[in-house]
Amino acid sequence: VEACLKRIEETEPSIQALISVQAEEALEQARAMDEAGPDASKPLWGVPLTVKDLLCTKGTKTTCGSKILENFEPFYDAFAIAKLKEAGAVLLGKTNMDEFAMGSSTESSAYKATKNPWDLNKVPGGSSGGSAASVTASQVFGTLGTDTGGSIRQPASLCGCVGLKPTYGRVSRRGMVAYGSSLDQIGPMTRSVEDNARMLQVIAGHDEKDSTSVDVPVDNYLAALHREDLKGLKVGLPKEFWAEGLDAEVESACRTAVAKLEELGAELVEVELPHSSYAIATYYIIAMAEASSNLARFDGVRYGYRSDNAEDLLDIYVKSRSEGFGDEVQRRIMLGTYVLSSGYYDAYYKKAAQVRRLIREDYLKALEKCDVLVGPASPVTAWNVGEFTSDPLKMYLLDIYTISLNLAGLPGLSLPVGLGADSNMPVGLQLLGKEFDEATLYGVASLLE
Ligand code: GLN
Repeated sequence: VEACLKRIEETEPSIQALISVQAEEALEQARAMDEAGPDASKPLWGVPLTVKDLLCTKGTKTTCGSKILENFEPFYDAFAIAKLKEAGAVLLGKTNMDEFAMGSSTESSAYKATKNPWDLNKVPGGSSGGSAASVTASQVFGTLGTDTGGSIRQPASLCGCVGLKPTYGRVSRRGMVAYGSSLDQIGPMTRSVEDNARMLQVIAGHDEKDSTSVDVPVDNYLAALHREDLKGLKVGLPKEFWAEGLDAEVESACRTAVAKLEELGAELVEVELPHSSYAIATYYIIAMAEASSNLARFDGVRYGYRSDNAEDLLDIYVKSRSEGFGDEVQRRIMLGTYVLSSGYYDAYYKKAAQVRRLIREDYLKALEKCDVLVGPASPVTAWNVGEFTSDPLKMYLLDIYTISLNLAGLPGLSLPVGLGADSNMPVGLQLLGKEFDEATLYGVASLLE
């Protein structure tokens, strides 16, 4: 814990991965644990971690990267946080993020813009960019992110760490501040596949207080690692993931990794996800619709920021929300409200929900023919700070390879497969799996490290 806190002190001024650091509490906890002695029943005993500031931590500020929750201290721990604590982990800090997880570069945080540890002029990806940077810069051994449309896998790819988005329902969402409730999942981000598996082992499982958490037995993820070869494994290459729009350096690093899978005995098959071209439009309608509804609770009355200048009730709502939310969040609330409003619901939201079903069916069909799918996690390596901040639509388009998996509810893992030949920045390969089959993703990934 001391070494990690020191590392945080050294790296934080340039990387800006954290919104808050709980140094005193962490040291106190570590000392007490030292006195009591190691506890073999706790799989993460003494392991220093950070967690995304979207996850409720009892008595510790949870801002969601927003001014509206500047002073919010939850009175309970998120399910995943409680599990980490029970397992003996020591939480050192809360990581920076795009406001309410809306973004792909960690630049929409109300507090700071996190930088990519590989090159401080580049973004770390997002929205869990603080988490990716924190673990990549060795501030801690692992961290939790959340993934609604790629927010674990894409920053993992851009920073060069391992990030897993579990199957929808694998990890309880209780205590995760909701963005798109039907898409959101919590998952681990680490420097190695094994560390990732260890963390998922701890946070996975049924939670009777989250009705979307599914009661399916949790596999032994550590046992799935380091298989001898990939004989008998069918790996699908979705044609739409390897098409136009993919940067040459990303394609080349990913193809080298795929060739390695073949060398290990995997059989490669080409598959199709024919509705892929609708994924971005579908995702952004559904995510914004759900966000507009979820964020209605921040009204300046119940909790969170309240404007000082309000004169009556309506004014409290309008001013607190206008002053408390940043531009990107306001844009999404407006668009989300629009697609849900009477007269437009059928044309936009309902249609998107129907297309979502087709996208999911594409995946299920492709996964009948193979065990995992592979493709890039992002079409590009990390881009320059500020490059797309004035053009949100361009940034949305960069989510092309991650968002359809959330629409389908399936698990995905991104792992580093080298540096881009032109940019010298990390490239991530994405492995996409069957429902609740995170074990196979870990097994394959561990052979590519
Ligand atoms: N970039 C996507 C968005 O802005 C995904 C974000 C996420 O997964 N939280 O919605």
